[in-house]
Amino acid sequence: MSESPIARVELLRKSFRGPSRGLGRGHAELRAVDGVTLDVKPGETLGLVGESGCGKSTLGRLFLRLQEPTSGRIYFDGKDITGLTQSALRPFRAEMQIIFQDPYSSLNPRMTVEATLGEALRVHGLARSASEERERIAALLARVGLRPEQMRRYPHEFSGGQRQRIGIARALAVEPRFIVADEPVSALDVSIQAQIVNLLGDLQVELGLSFLFIAHDLHVVEHVSRRVAVMYLGRVVELAESAQIYERPRHPYTEALLSAAPEPDPRAHKKRMLLEGDVPSPLDPPPGCTFHPRCPIAEKGLCDREVPALRTIGPGHEVACHLAR
Ligand code: SF4
Repeated sequence: MSESPIARVELLRKSFRGPSRGLGRGHAELRAVDGVTLDVKPGETLGLVGESGCGKSTLGRLFLRLQEPTSGRIYFDGKDITGLTQSALRPFRAEMQIIFQDPYSSLNPRMTVEATLGEALRVHGLARSASEERERIAALLARVGLRPEQMRRYPHEFSGGQRQRIGIARALAVEPRFIVADEPVSALDVSIQAQIVNLLGDLQVELGLSFLFIAHDLHVVEHVSRRVAVMYLGRVVELAESAQIYERPRHPYTEALLSAAPEPDPRAHKKRMLLEGDVPSPLDPPPGCTFHPRCPIAEKGLCDREVPALRTIGPGHEVACHLAR
């Protein structure tokens, strides 16, 4: 793919200070995002997958400059937005939106849906009169599968799935081109998850949106992602077209994530690779390949010493593993 990306991060790092786990006092550096280069193409959904605490939500917020990077560059539509002041960022804000995991805590419980969506429209000057504002809100609700008359209700009067639809409508209100969907279905019942994933897929096609779709379950992003990036302890360890990731994962961690996910087809017999142990603390990451204490094929003297670089092993397929071929 040679299209210019709509959103891109280059060698991005985000560190926090955390209490040292070693003897003595002091603070250690927690590298939540550790040198990530990634881009999202126009009209693409890029799935970003990994266990809790791997840095994927932090990376999503960095894409939108909702958090400041420690180093590296952030581009939107070819423009370097890394050092822009908040006022210089304003024109970009409407073009880049976020959908949160927990729609309930991200909606003001004291505001009706009409007030919430109306506020988003007014902040960006997208409605010239009260009647135009109402019309736009009604159209937004219809677009996400809610009834226009529901605009007078409060968040607690909706189910979890409906609240996520309101969160999506709020993101769409300002006519964005790029949306970070941060675990948008993790808090929902399994029966509702597919509806929301399908809705996002439909909106992408209808509106030509680009998504960074964050999830901890590889199967959630399988049908909506053109490409998938897998993260482990702040780094991208595998990046490929969806079909390559699901049919022939090359990184042992991706293989383990696929093994751990419930198999949608009960007749399929797949080889299980179980992940041993917990994710190591990012305050004290293992030397070499940070996955080596859990990796079933780790080679002593290599994997515990040398950090594997992300390298190309096929068209559009990158892997950070010494032994991947
Ligand atoms: Fe496993 Fe070594 Fe590859 Fe890391 S570099 S994933 S430890 S084989």
